[in-house]
Amino acid sequence: MTDIVPTPDTAAEPLAAPAAAPATPFTELPLSPALQATLVQLGYLNMTPIQAASLPVALAGHDIIAQAKTGSGKTAAFALPLLTKLNPRWFAVQAMVLCPTRELADQVTQEIRRLARAEDNIKVLTLCGGTTMRPQRDSLAHGAHVVVGTPGRIMDHLERGSLTLDGLNTLVLDEADRMLDMGFHDDIVYVAKHCPAERQTLLFSATYPPAIAALASRFQRNPQEVKLREQH
Ligand code: ADP
Ligand code: MG
Repeated sequence: MTDIVPTPDTAAEPLAAPAAAPATPFTELPLSPALQATLVQLGYLNMTPIQAASLPVALAGHDIIAQAKTGSGKTAAFALPLLTKLNPRWFAVQAMVLCPTRELADQVTQEIRRLARAEDNIKVLTLCGGTTMRPQRDSLAHGAHVVVGTPGRIMDHLERGSLTLDGLNTLVLDEADRMLDMGFHDDIVYVAKHCPAERQTLLFSATYPPAIAALASRFQRNPQEVKLREQH
């Protein structure tokens, strides 16, 4: 029985259960045997819809604008492409993920660490405000492959010279609409200007307002739009 008590501010009725989309296994992707083995260990067998839509495009090297909500599995959608390109024997920051908050940055760091092969010793550093710069500077001095952080703190490190991005090949803007809502526009612009022009830029956003389109056209090259069709 459905509860139909209409009130003006009632949230949208829950959608009917989406028609079962055909499951797409990770084995269809051109991932290394090591990454495939890690996915099996984690119990990741089938891709979520946003992963199935974006991973083939991102793994082919294209820039993407992906519209996806929280909990849709976005982290693996950008972590697998950046890990695929990463050279563990080269101690340079090769990928950077910008996030709106410390909590999200911590979650992304944990997920990338889970997906990275332990024996490769891939170093993933979180760089967020609210803590002193010194320990982060020391960690950066020891070398990191991937940095995940908030735009303001990453900008601080760039200004002070404790972070260089000359070896970067992947820039990820995670929850880009939230970063703009939080006033990070100018910091993102500053950070992106310090990234090599020759790179892949993956942009994820729950909504697609004009400001996101403007950001994309400024920082991306011929981005492929990945949008999930609403299920009715
Ligand atoms: P988002 O960033 O879109 O909010 P996350 O990347 O944090 O989503 O993923 C949400 C949860 O789903 C995490 O706990 C993650 O480990 C899990 N997850 C992601 N992809 C898969 C998958 N293909 N199969 C099973 N679990 C997955
Ligand atoms: Mg996320």
